[in-house]
Amino acid sequence: MSLTHVDDTTTTNVESPKYDCDVIVVGAGPAGAAAAYYMAKDGLKVIVLEQAIFPRDKVCGDFVSPGSLGELTKMGIATLEAFQETHTVDYATIYLSGKPLVAGTFPLVEDMPRYSRVIPRRVLDSLILQAARKAGATVLEGTRLVNFVVQKDWVTVVAAQKEETKTFRTRLIVGADGNNSLVARILTKASWSKTERALVARAYFEGVTGNSSEANVFYGNGSFPGYSWLFPISKNEANVGVGLVGGASPEAENPKNLLTKLIQNDAGMYSRLKDAKLKGEIEVAALNLHDAQMPIVGDRVMLIGEAAGLVNPYNGEGIQFGLKSAKWASETATASMKSKNFAESGLATYSKRVEDELGYGFKISALMLGLLRNRNLNHAWLRWIELMGEKSKSDPEYARLTSGILSGMIFPNQEETARALTGTLEEAALSVGLTTFSQVVNDPSKLPQSAENMLQTGVVAARYAAQDPFAALKWGMEAATRMTEIATVVSKQVLKEYKNKTGSQQ
Ligand SMILES: Cc1cc2nc3c(=O)[nH]c(=O)nc-3n(C[C@H](O)[C@H](O)[C@H](O)COP(=O)(O)OP(=O)(O)OC[C@H]3O[C@@H](n4cnc5c(N)ncnc54)[C@H](O)[C@@H]3O)c2cc1C
Repeated sequence: MSLTHVDDTTTTNVESPKYDCDVIVVGAGPAGAAAAYYMAKDGLKVIVLEQAIFPRDKVCGDFVSPGSLGELTKMGIATLEAFQETHTVDYATIYLSGKPLVAGTFPLVEDMPRYSRVIPRRVLDSLILQAARKAGATVLEGTRLVNFVVQKDWVTVVAAQKEETKTFRTRLIVGADGNNSLVARILTKASWSKTERALVARAYFEGVTGNSSEANVFYGNGSFPGYSWLFPISKNEANVGVGLVGGASPEAENPKNLLTKLIQNDAGMYSRLKDAKLKGEIEVAALNLHDAQMPIVGDRVMLIGEAAGLVNPYNGEGIQFGLKSAKWASETATASMKSKNFAESGLATYSKRVEDELGYGFKISALMLGLLRNRNLNHAWLRWIELMGEKSKSDPEYARLTSGILSGMIFPNQEETARALTGTLEEAALSVGLTTFSQVVNDPSKLPQSAENMLQTGVVAARYAAQDPFAALKWGMEAATRMTEIATVVSKQVLKEYKNKTGSQQ
C-alpha cells in the first residue's frame, strides 16, 4: 500500500455517506488524549487509535512544568488522587561546567503553581487517557495506523489490529502520533531532517543523593547545544538524561555514551549520582524541533503535539504544547463540524492560532539555534549562559524572565521577553565578532535589510573559528535563512501596525 495523500473524487455522487465517527485521533499520548477529551466533551464522536497497550512507557524527562499543570488542572486531572500522589519539585539549580551557577525557587507567574511535578509517563498518560474515555471517546489500544486517504467527503483510515486490518470512515483525522508521525509523513510527503531533531538519552537511577525537591539542569561543553538533567521522581530516585541538537557533533549521534561519560565526568551530575544505581536500561529517543516550513493542516487533516513539531525549543518540553495544541485543534474541529468546512482553508484557524501563540518564539529560537549550532564557538555560547546567570543574581526581573523561560512558564513570544535572551546572547556574540547580530537585536526593524549582512558576518565568523569553509558556508546560510524568517514576521507586524494606524485596507 502506498503512503500517499490522495484527493480521490470518485465519491462525489454518494449522497449520505455513513461515517464511523467525526474524528479519528491517531496516538494517545498527552496531545491525542487531550484532543479526544476536548472533542468528546464538545459532543463529537471520537475514536482514538493507539498502537501500544496502556499503561506504556514513553522516553521522556517526565518534567510536568507549571504550565502543563495549569492545562491538566483545566481538564480536572490535577485534582485526581493518583495525580496528587506524584512527586513535586519546587527548587532548581543550574550548573555550568560542573559548578552551580544559579539556584532558586520557581518564579511567580500568573495562574501557574510555583512547582512542577515529575511523573513517569506510564502514570501521566494513563490518567489523561482515562479522562478522554470518561468524556466519551472510544479508545482502541493495540491498533496501529497504516495509511489514510483523503477523499472528497471523508477520510478513509486503515489500521492494523494484530493480524487484522480495520478500515474507518471519518470526517476528520488528527495526527497526534509523536516524533515519527505517520500522519505527518503522509500529509507532507516528507520526514524531518537530522538538524530539526534532537537525540536524547534517558535513564532512571535509585540511591540519588541531595534534595529530592530540587531539579537540576547541567550545561557544559560536552552537551552543548543541549543540556543534561536530573529530575527527582521520589525521595531517592531520579530521571536523568541528556539531549543535543541533531547534527551538532559526533556526540549528538550517540547520546547513550555521552550520558554515561557525563555522569562520571560532570562534577555537578556526579555529586548527586555517585552512590546511585542504574535501574533498567539507558533508553534513546528522538525529539522533534519546530520546522517553520512544515504544514500542520491539510484538507481534513490536523497535526498536534510533537507530530506538529510543537516542542518548546528553550527547554525541550513537549507536554505543555501537546495539551495546548490539542485544545486549539479541538476548537477548530468543533467549528468545522458546524460549518461543514473541512478544507485546509477552513482548518487554518488552528494553524493561525499556533502561529499567533508560538510563532515569534519559535523563530527567535531557530535563529539562536542557527548560531549555537556552530560548536567551534562554544566558548562564546557558554559565556552567554554564564552572563545570564550573573545578571540573574543582580536583576530580579531578569531572573524571573530567564527562569520562567527555562521552566516553560514564560514563552518568549514577544520582543520584550525575547530580548531577555537575545540581549545577553548579543554580548556573547559580540565577543566573537558577530556585529550584525548585535545591530539586529537592538533594532528589529532593521531585520529585513540585515539578512544579507548576517550571511556575510556568519560566514566570516565561522570561517575564522572553524577553519572549514564548507561548514562555515552552511552555518552562515542557515543563520541567514533564520533571519529571513524573522524578518518576514516582523515585516508583517510592522505592516499590521501601519494599517491599524492609517486605517488602510491595502
Ligand atoms: C528523552 C526525552 C525527554 C523529554 N523530556 C520532557 C520533559 O521532561 N517534559 C516535557 O514536557 N517533554 C519532554 N519531552 C518531550 C515529550 O516527551 C514529547 O514532546 C511529548 O510526549 C509529546 O506528546 P505527544 O502526545 O505529541 O506524542 P507522544 O507522547 O509521543 O505520543 C504519541 C503516541 O502515538 C502512538 N503512535 C505512534 N505512531 C502510531 C501509529 N502509527 N498508530 C497508532 N498510534 C501511534 C505512540 O504509541 C504514542 O502513544 C522529552 C522527550 C524526550 C525524547
